[in-house]
Amino acid sequence: MRRDQRIARALVDWFAVNARDLPWRAIDPRLKRRDAYRSLVSEAMLQQTQVSRVLEKYSSFIARFPDVRRLARADEQSVLAAWSGLGYYRRARNLHRAAKMIVEEFGGEVPRDIGSLRRLPGVGRYTAGAIASIVFGDAEPLVDGNVQRVLLRVEGREMKETERAREAWVRSRADQLVKATNDPGAMNEAMMELGATICTPTNPRCKECPLAKVCVARREGAQDRIPRPSKQAPRRDVFHSVVVIRLRGRVLVEQRPSTGLWANMWQPITIERDDRPATRAEIVRALRLNAAAAAQRFDHMTSHRRVRFEVWEGRTMGTKPARGVWVTEKRLDSLPIGNPQRRILKSSGRRDADGEMRKAQSEN
Ligand code: SF4
Repeated sequence: MRRDQRIARALVDWFAVNARDLPWRAIDPRLKRRDAYRSLVSEAMLQQTQVSRVLEKYSSFIARFPDVRRLARADEQSVLAAWSGLGYYRRARNLHRAAKMIVEEFGGEVPRDIGSLRRLPGVGRYTAGAIASIVFGDAEPLVDGNVQRVLLRVEGREMKETERAREAWVRSRADQLVKATNDPGAMNEAMMELGATICTPTNPRCKECPLAKVCVARREGAQDRIPRPSKQAPRRDVFHSVVVIRLRGRVLVEQRPSTGLWANMWQPITIERDDRPATRAEIVRALRLNAAAAAQRFDHMTSHRRVRFEVWEGRTMGTKPARGVWVTEKRLDSLPIGNPQRRILKSSGRRDADGEMRKAQSEN
């Protein structure tokens, strides 16, 4: 048996026994394959997000939007609210737009060919390959960070060239392997699963690996050197001074702009700066408060920024705020709110103008 076929066979056989039982892997008995819409939802959720986190949200999202038409008809705010907790809300917006496009241009059926898939908002080469191979069984290569690591190690490639050269090599190697099996979807998923569970970045469990006999990195003891770490772009600091203002059981919130971080989501009143946090005097003046007390500080990392949160509890006597709208605590639950802002709302002391102070349960 040729080496490529041997690798592909070992991966497919290993996956048949070791695949994790995940809800989006269920076979639709009517179609005798996975449901393409549900796969699209899971792929969108899994981008830059751990499986354990996605597991917490996937089923409730599907219960709310069980098919592509239901999602296409929904308003954006309810889609964002159902996505709450997963972060990177652009994915939810793109998924919503993709659902509309599938209904309007593809008769409500997720398309099969790569060209049409890639026209869907938020669907890049990876997601298109995942749908085409895993759902429809087409021989499309699939490369993510896990696959890249597995392939570089199996072939013992240190790849000192540019990142682009490394990606091109990995892609062409994945393409060779996917053509060496009659079950491309299982082979692709097996490689990703192997990278996620066995061939991990540190301390790979080579003794349990189905590719141990053919792996060059293992033979040469080079697992720690491969792959070479890639250079991370430095993150830019931004400063968010968040002021939690409560009055008679309600809290003051505002909607974020329609572009940028947490676009269109809701938040407690927030003053944003690129160079430094707002001072107490600036906060009191800008929001026409009676007082503001420092509450907590923390950093939140996004892919390109370090958001430096400074949280204040503001006190106001008047019901006419300088900005924002009053909402009840109950209403907060149904608004799309980013993870750090929700954490702030839950953990900040509940002080209102009557001087009541109730300690909110901390999520920390
Ligand atoms: S043998 Fe070890 S290094 Fe090679 S693919 Fe398997 S887990 Fe990774």
